Amino acid sequence: MAAPALMYGRKYQQGVNVITTVAMIAFHILAVAAFFFIDAGAIATAVALYFVAGMLGIGMAYHRLLTHRSYKTTPWMEYFLTWCGTLALEGGPIFWVATHRVHHQKSDQEGDPHTPREGTWWAHMGWIITGSGLHHDAHVLSKYAPDLSRDPVHIWLSKYHWTSNVIVGLILLAFGGVPYVLWGIFFRTTFGLHATWLVNSATHKWGSRRFTTRDDSTNNWWVAALTFGEGWHNNHHAHPTSARHGLAWYEVDLNWIGISTLKIFGLAWDIKLAKIRQPLPTETEPDTLAEEAVA
Ligand SMILES: [Zn+2]
Ligand SMILES: [Zn+2]
Repeated sequence: MAAPALMYGRKYQQGVNVITTVAMIAFHILAVAAFFFIDAGAIATAVALYFVAGMLGIGMAYHRLLTHRSYKTTPWMEYFLTWCGTLALEGGPIFWVATHRVHHQKSDQEGDPHTPREGTWWAHMGWIITGSGLHHDAHVLSKYAPDLSRDPVHIWLSKYHWTSNVIVGLILLAFGGVPYVLWGIFFRTTFGLHATWLVNSATHKWGSRRFTTRDDSTNNWWVAALTFGEGWHNNHHAHPTSARHGLAWYEVDLNWIGISTLKIFGLAWDIKLAKIRQPLPTETEPDTLAEEAVA
């Protein structure tokens, strides 16, 4: 497959992405406004939605299922989990998967969409605000996510990814009022965006390194705590297709627990797993992890 050369990285930034920036400012202001409407029910709803969007959606679906295909599930479960991912407001699945596959291909090298070698702030949020990553249309991105681009449901979810928050927001407004919308939509998505961006910034900068990978990835417990296990990022760069990122008993990985739970109900199989002492894959010998037998 001849993929087009995407010009990602700081030197290809194209000025301020106006729509994204205005939306980000509005979401941050309304996230702060939530603190003037303290309501236990609204906060509990936000926590529940944070699990749905961040764990079921981003960790278990966008990242481990769609990007790396580290396990298989039924089409309906895949679509449901992907819909949960759209609630995180991190774009549709085709954009997210394509961007993340480029990140793995070019980690901390020329062409990485968000490496802290070009600035910690750039890796955290600058690439969203001024980067060229968001300017690529679905046709270009489809070269990096050909599997998803053939699937009409994923195409629909990518185009209308924002509708899930509109629907949930209207339901919250009808049944809970303004505090539920402020906490459940604005605070919850803004907090979740920063948590995910910390995987790009903090876990390519601060933490420990179990594996000597060619990138700067680290394992960082507090990023893992915020992202349901995504902070075991050095383990992940060493063995990208492993469904389990927390490899030691103390590396709590709720996304892996979620995938294990799906397996118990017969909803996850062909699960790829790395072991803690497994040698790194080499250039000539790509990552071939043992698959667990179907239970
Ligand atoms: Zn990374
Ligand atoms: Zn990844």
